[in-house]
Amino acid sequence: MNAIVLKGARLIDPASGMDAAGDISIADGRIAEVGKITSHPTGARAIELPGCWVMPGLCDAHVHFRQPGFEHKETIATGSAAAARGGYTSVVCEPNTKPPIDNIAVVEEVARIAARDSLVKLRVKVCMTEGQRGDKAIDPAPLARNPIVAAVSDDGNPIIRRDVAAEACRLAARCGLPVSPHCEDSERSLADCLAMPDCEFAGREPFTNEDRFIRRDIECAEAAGAALHISHVSLAASLEMIRRAKVNGLAVTCEAAPHHLLLDSSCRIGGAMPLVNPPLRPAGDVATLGRALEDGLIDAIATDHAPHAADEKKAGARGLIGLECSLALIITGFVKTGRITPMRMAELMSAAPRRIFRLEPAALRPGAPGDIVVIDPDAQWTIDSSAFASKSRNCPYDGRRVSGRAILTIVSGRIVWEA
Ligand SMILES: [Zn+2]
Repeated sequence: MNAIVLKGARLIDPASGMDAAGDISIADGRIAEVGKITSHPTGARAIELPGCWVMPGLCDAHVHFRQPGFEHKETIATGSAAAARGGYTSVVCEPNTKPPIDNIAVVEEVARIAARDSLVKLRVKVCMTEGQRGDKAIDPAPLARNPIVAAVSDDGNPIIRRDVAAEACRLAARCGLPVSPHCEDSERSLADCLAMPDCEFAGREPFTNEDRFIRRDIECAEAAGAALHISHVSLAASLEMIRRAKVNGLAVTCEAAPHHLLLDSSCRIGGAMPLVNPPLRPAGDVATLGRALEDGLIDAIATDHAPHAADEKKAGARGLIGLECSLALIITGFVKTGRITPMRMAELMSAAPRRIFRLEPAALRPGAPGDIVVIDPDAQWTIDSSAFASKSRNCPYDGRRVSGRAILTIVSGRIVWEA
């Protein structure tokens, strides 16, 4: 029997509200016992964990693993190894691969590679429109028969046309998939906008329309009866829009990325602002985002792990990697400073993303999946992306001293990372 007993840790479980010292045993892929464990299963490996936190494995609902098509940036093998090192046991991948995940053949290819190569549980979002081109909504129902499919998103090419967005929401709602748009208006999407008469997003600078996209998507999702999850919200005005929707009882949730919570537009790495979509924002927006993390308006933290090769990054590719340092950044920036509790962190980084994307819940109770992260909150280390499992190095935190580290990550009862 493959059994592990974690002893003398602080058990933190958002599902039950438990925050108490105790032990936990995992056998045959599932949690066997929780509490004071005196008799170990035969052959079990016992690990003493004084001072450590044990919580359900982290879940990152926004990652780019780049396979198929961009394997020089990341693969499911390297991306999932990065996830395991970061304490994640589940991820949801964006569909902007090459080809994009907009048909059954690609869904099946990704499912096949994930079954073979992924160290963590992997799900995907599928495109909202054919080829992410924004002009023809896809019916995701046939794709959603594959259990790997968790949601729909056109990733960084948000749909400009309202009629297409409305239809995509209607089709997603019909098969029970959450809609997870990126409400970012890149230069490319605004160029689409210029080509359309009377475009509702016309007349503003790139990346200043986030709140207008969010309002449009809230309206479309509400009319369709779809659950809406806003990716990487970055502006105070957007949060106001989301607050109002929640007050009105709409099924709207949102996530923030660590870089939007911790870096503002004055940040310079090697003399330049790190490039990411949406861009780093002024300090006022960052402060408002932080308060929304504390007060519960922001539902989840997602890394938007977006690997790029060094030459592509030099040529202006947008995106930052985040799987291997986000836990430490959040512990250092928000938990150690008393802004959020370890329980709230577990809610933001583990329970909420699973709930929003309707994944199998993870919890610290007998019978639940053996998906666990053990965190040493006091481990001090210096971020050094050259030591990462990710293929890419576009990390803006190199040299930063942080505390907190995943020292053990367990997926279905199997150790996938051990520091
Ligand atoms: Zn993304």
